Amino acid sequence: MKVNIVGAGLAGIEAAFALANRGIKVNLFEMKPKKFSKVHKSEGAAEIVCSNSFGSTKLTTASGVLKEEMRILGSVLLKIASLTRVEAGNALAVDRKRFSDIATKWVEKHPNINLIRERVTKLDNDSIWIVACGPLCDSELIDFLKENVIKGDLLYFFDAIAPIVYSDSVDYSKGFWGSRYSDSKDYFNCVLTEDEYNKFYDELIRAEKVEFKEFEKNYYEACLPIEELAERGKQTLLFGPLKPVGLKFKGKTPFAVVQLRKENKEGTLLGLVGFQTKLTYKEQKRVFRLIPALRNAEFAKLGSLHRNTFIDSPRLLNVFLQSKDKPNVFFAGQITGVEGYMASAVTGLYVGMNIALFLKKGKMMEPPKNTMFGGLIHYITSKDGEFQPISENFGFIDVGKVKNKKIKRLTQAQVAINNTKAWREQYESELN
Ligand SMILES: Cc1cc2nc3c(=O)[nH]c(=O)nc-3n(C[C@H](O)[C@H](O)[C@H](O)COP(=O)(O)OP(=O)(O)OC[C@H]3O[C@@H](n4cnc5c(N)ncnc54)[C@H](O)[C@@H]3O)c2cc1C
Repeated sequence: MKVNIVGAGLAGIEAAFALANRGIKVNLFEMKPKKFSKVHKSEGAAEIVCSNSFGSTKLTTASGVLKEEMRILGSVLLKIASLTRVEAGNALAVDRKRFSDIATKWVEKHPNINLIRERVTKLDNDSIWIVACGPLCDSELIDFLKENVIKGDLLYFFDAIAPIVYSDSVDYSKGFWGSRYSDSKDYFNCVLTEDEYNKFYDELIRAEKVEFKEFEKNYYEACLPIEELAERGKQTLLFGPLKPVGLKFKGKTPFAVVQLRKENKEGTLLGLVGFQTKLTYKEQKRVFRLIPALRNAEFAKLGSLHRNTFIDSPRLLNVFLQSKDKPNVFFAGQITGVEGYMASAVTGLYVGMNIALFLKKGKMMEPPKNTMFGGLIHYITSKDGEFQPISENFGFIDVGKVKNKKIKRLTQAQVAINNTKAWREQYESELN
């Protein structure tokens, strides 16, 4: 039986390699460059649409543990990330162009992957399908899914993109290089005094936004636009994206700090960390130039807001991310209601591994409990009540009561890693 994958994004690529590396031929359909979503701009596979960071690598963070699990499972994207890494303290950030270039090259040269640059509008019943079309899935396929697979509407929320500036337009006398949690000099920290912060805050609150109708207001809490955060109170930003904690300028903790992170290896582009926004383009330039280091900033890319769709996975999918109604259709990536680059990628990896096992041995393996990836999959396929997108978090790993938080996190990390290793070993023995 043929395996067809819709979308050469993060989940689609992981799924394709998980299958192809186990000897299974896959057709990987990608609509670019014939058609682009509103945020995808390049022709390449595994395009990263917003921040170039995959989050922390520290095992005291959920994101760090998930990446370690993915490494154990053989993630191809983490291999590419390690080849294209740019300095970002404890975060795993990549040069997005090189990352996508290598992913495309590896796809094109893999003997078992057939990259087909076509838009998928319907799914036949004779193949296995992995729908990894992302949160901005093409509308014709959405219509097909609504009518034939999910039998109802998709759910949605909004996701915002942060602006990027040219590094040669930053005023480096108004800040310093340094990193919050390590000695590295990976971030440029734009310093604001209390007066400068107040002015910035007042203008941010007042600035013109791209308005949405009432029924469209549905943000995902983890990536709230900066102006929405500001509306919660003057202090909120000082505990969020503008927090000065852990940073010193001329011997003192600054009042507020905006961090800029390298977007490419050359360091010619810097992204405003945590500055996703839905201000109008004109207002972004006016308001963000009130940050002293950015007063003459030239913007390579302005922020924007986009509607993301996802399916009601708890109702529609079993624990293998397989449609309960149409067993030849699997889903992976952000369309399943996981949130974020790595959470999306790991679902593709999991589905790909399981379909390989199914095609070779006629069975699939449930993901382990007490792991980040298993937690994500169990959550999205069993959540009761209203379903909202979820990303990896320590709530998925139960180690009982441990008083010291750091020790608790490290214990959870160890449990998750051990369980993932055991799962992988069992998987390999089932397969061979
Ligand atoms: C505006 C925005 C900002 C975001 N910012 C962040 C962020 O900063 N950090 C973070 O962790 N996550 C962010 N995300 C989430 C991020 O997009 C996802 O986590 C991740 O890219 C999803 O991976 P995916 O593989 O599911 O989909 P994608 O990576 O989007 O890949 C889907 C692919 O499918 C293709 N496709 C779609 N429909 C069809 C079709 N019918 N036929 C053929 N091909 C098709 C698309 O062209 C695309 O290449 C953001 C998302 C959006 C929309």
